Amino acid sequence: MPRPIEALIHTDALAHNLARARACAPDARVWAVVKANAYGHGIERAFVGLRGADGFALLDLAEAERLRALDWRGPILLLEGVFEARDLELCSRLNLWHAVHCEQQIDWLAAHKTHQPHRVFLKMNSGMNRLGFRAGAFRAAWARLNGLPQVDEITLVTHFSDADADRFGKNGIAHQVQAFHEATHDLPGERSLANSAATLRHLADPRVRADWVRAGIMSYGGVPDFPEHDSAFWDLRPAMTLRSHLLAVQQVEAGESVGYGSAFVAEQPLRIGIVACGYADGYPRHAPSGSPILVDGVRTTTVGRVSMDMLAVDLTPVPAAQPGSEVTLWGEGPHGSRLPVDEVARAAGTIGYELMCALAQRVPVTVV
Ligand SMILES: *Cc1c(COP(=O)(O)O)cnc(C)c1O
Repeated sequence: MPRPIEALIHTDALAHNLARARACAPDARVWAVVKANAYGHGIERAFVGLRGADGFALLDLAEAERLRALDWRGPILLLEGVFEARDLELCSRLNLWHAVHCEQQIDWLAAHKTHQPHRVFLKMNSGMNRLGFRAGAFRAAWARLNGLPQVDEITLVTHFSDADADRFGKNGIAHQVQAFHEATHDLPGERSLANSAATLRHLADPRVRADWVRAGIMSYGGVPDFPEHDSAFWDLRPAMTLRSHLLAVQQVEAGESVGYGSAFVAEQPLRIGIVACGYADGYPRHAPSGSPILVDGVRTTTVGRVSMDMLAVDLTPVPAAQPGSEVTLWGEGPHGSRLPVDEVARAAGTIGYELMCALAQRVPVTVV
């Protein structure tokens, strides 16, 4: 028998979550964002559930090739554009749409030989200060692109820094929406602004809804504005379950410690279970004692430090648990139980995105 840990990818949950994005934006088209190997789910596996999307957005040219290898003929968008001039040859060959965020990318396009003009997404830096042209330079960049025979349609795009929270006294995006609107309102072309957080929270504003939304984390059932809202509130379902078994059970006496560094010391006699899952599987080492976990579908907590291949759990709420009992690290548990990845991430001081993306290579994955 292989080591009992496994990840499940729930294609019906992916399809459900994509439908949620569509319901939020009925008059827009939906990019399923599948960068970072579909947020750790695997491009090929995620594709099974997300093939109803209007297009797939990602960063890596090799991932775009994998999508074309699945016979996806629809739009693929490179969210950061090309990284060097010769990447444009692959864009021409595979018909990839690509972001343009800097002058150098325009220079490369101007020098590119192609019979097939490219569809480009001109990116504005409206306040995130990562990629894109500032408002003052945006129109000149647009005019330059518009004059190139290598360029077909130009879509106008920007990205929000705070769509998941109320900041700047308002809804966190108002200043960026305004900056984008002022710089672009008289330019032709489609627009794309919203990530998952804006798709869930801000689509009442038609300027935010625009022509395309970019649904990343919500497609996988992760909640961008947890803990203000949870997956039940947004009706999102976990697309990834990480589950394992108890390898052993220990009876610990008061005053005894558990695990490396003796970081946990029992105050009273305690029955604990040892789970076949550690940080080498992608479980966060920084999850402290007391992080949520399910044993046989019953909610309990971790005990002591997470080690490379194992972690310990308190079996007090599950007296019937024994070696072989099912453990849910996150996702769907037995008997209709569920532990959202957002809760585990929160306990570990991070976000669900990071845990999904960190699922380790050694964990076998099953598509259900
Ligand atoms: C990753 C990414 C998204 C998706 O963000 P989520 O928060 O996962 O929805 C959207 N747009 C751009 C430009 C991105 O890089």
